[in-house]
Amino acid sequence: MKKLLGRCENCGRAVFKGETLFEIRIDIYAKGGPIEFEPEDLEKDHLKEMKDLIARMEKMDVDELTDEVWESYRFNLCHQCRKDFHSKLKMKVSGTIPPVRSRYSNN
Ligand SMILES: [Zn+2]
Repeated sequence: MKKLLGRCENCGRAVFKGETLFEIRIDIYAKGGPIEFEPEDLEKDHLKEMKDLIARMEKMDVDELTDEVWESYRFNLCHQCRKDFHSKLKMKVSGTIPPVRSRYSNN
């Protein structure tokens, strides 16, 4: 019996020894926006704003707060799903649609 390496977390297919199991990692970071100051900003009550911000954060879930700063995921992928992701990512980067291949071909 072939040794099971794992399952594709996209399509659910079992991947056995002799095939390749791939891993995709996705990290989402808070990148922030531009810092802009207006003359009114200098007149604001910053201590009150900080207190308001802390009060709002205290009402938020810890996981919710953490997710807004950084999220990280890892998924196993089979050969076909890796190719599909690859094509979609390449399309995103290049802006061109890659040649279509049959999902069920054995290449
Ligand atoms: Zn798959």
